[in-house]
Amino acid sequence: MQDVTSAKNRLQAVRERIERACARSGRDPSSVTLVAVSKTHPAEAVAAMAQAGQTLFGESYVQEALPKLDALAGLKLRWHFIGRLQKNKAKYVAGRFELIHSVDSIELAHMLHKKCDFLGIVQPVLVQVNLGCESQKAGCSLDDTLPLAEAVAGMDGLALKGVMLLPPWDENPEANRGLFARACELRAELSARLGLPMPELSMGMSHDLEQAVEEGATLVRVGTDLFGAREPG
Ligand SMILES: *Cc1c(COP(=O)(O)O)cnc(C)c1O
Repeated sequence: MQDVTSAKNRLQAVRERIERACARSGRDPSSVTLVAVSKTHPAEAVAAMAQAGQTLFGESYVQEALPKLDALAGLKLRWHFIGRLQKNKAKYVAGRFELIHSVDSIELAHMLHKKCDFLGIVQPVLVQVNLGCESQKAGCSLDDTLPLAEAVAGMDGLALKGVMLLPPWDENPEANRGLFARACELRAELSARLGLPMPELSMGMSHDLEQAVEEGATLVRVGTDLFGAREPG
């Protein structure tokens, strides 16, 4: 649990890291948006972070997220869904989140589209790509990315906004710089191939947000450095 003062200090520190990375890479700090990843942390911690000035939060688990969104509905916060999404849960998240980062298969996209079509809404989404080639990690393979992006772009219940990357964990924050750069190129390639603006590139977490921002991230997803360590498991 966090009080507002510690939330303010942590938020300030993360914002300064983003600003310094922008300065180093000649980017406008307003081109990078911080998603505060509140998974596993209680609604009270989110409320403290909101009081500290953060309005955009990210959640990863459907069952945990929905009650939290309901509990905090009075605060008018913005929410992104960033976690792995099972097809049978798609109907619960459609329309509840401003952006879904983790669309990694045509089947999942179709389930989301069906629900959005039923609700008469358009859901902004990102396609999650797996450039690290880890077999059990979420994200579609590089070869599947163009077909997935084309399919999503063709579903009128979905609005394709860009690419999300969750690289393999590596202690060394420089380890994934090449993958960050590749994701940035991929977003430009997809945008050109589809003739669609794809403004968002979601990548970078607590330990490597600098590298991600320097390589072009527009959304950085930071949990630990804002809320503290999560319980393992
Ligand atoms: C948990 C999570 C994060 C935040 O990671 P930290 O290392 O705690 O900053 C970012 N992205 C995704 C997809 C996550 O699940």
